[in-house]
Amino acid sequence: MPNTIRLHNEHAAHFSLERLVWPSGPTCPHCGELTRLGRLNGLSTPVGTWKCYACRKPFTIRNGTIFHNSHVPLHVWLQALYLLTGTKLKVGSQRLAQVLGVSVRTAWHLKQKIVAGLEAAPSKAVPAAGWHDGDIVMRCASLACQSENRPGSAISEARYERFLAAVDGDANSETDLRFIQALHQLLAARRDAAEGEDDGTIEVQLELGLLASEEPEPRTAIAPASAQALRIIR
Ligand SMILES: [Zn+2]
Repeated sequence: MPNTIRLHNEHAAHFSLERLVWPSGPTCPHCGELTRLGRLNGLSTPVGTWKCYACRKPFTIRNGTIFHNSHVPLHVWLQALYLLTGTKLKVGSQRLAQVLGVSVRTAWHLKQKIVAGLEAAPSKAVPAAGWHDGDIVMRCASLACQSENRPGSAISEARYERFLAAVDGDANSETDLRFIQALHQLLAARRDAAEGEDDGTIEVQLELGLLASEEPEPRTAIAPASAQALRIIR
């Protein structure tokens, strides 16, 4: 059955990606455990967190992807990806920041990482296991998406309304397909790329404006993915 990818809020984005990447249920990215896994639903737990009872480590669907170790919510990443790849609009960092409700620096960083991720991925990406022809992006009228009354939902709703307004008139099955193919590529890259454990740090430093004055050589050896991120930042 085709999947419906929803990106109106954090829960929807996590559920959508989980169905795509784990069609037959979650897998611990640390130890490969398939059964002794549980979803953590505490109010203070980040959305989409799972716990592995074999290795005791938490994980989310973001592990091993370019979305990993990022303070930017997953639905914001997906909306950025749609705006950058689905539509024909020329979306600059300023506009991206305005629609997504993030700083221009964060928008710029999202754009760099998405562009670099797509360049690094094979253009004919092998579909993720749960992928089907006819997968669609659901653009529900925003009212239909307002059933979840969770902390921060007002922010997601306002953001989603700006997103819908930004793609209005330019979103159809073709733009959906371009977005889905791009998402495909990024998820395929996840299988090759080593986990860039430094990426979160880089992003935070970028947000704080610290990287501009940093020396080119990092203090410690860095993974290839991080090395690439650093090259892009310079
Ligand atoms: Zn595990």
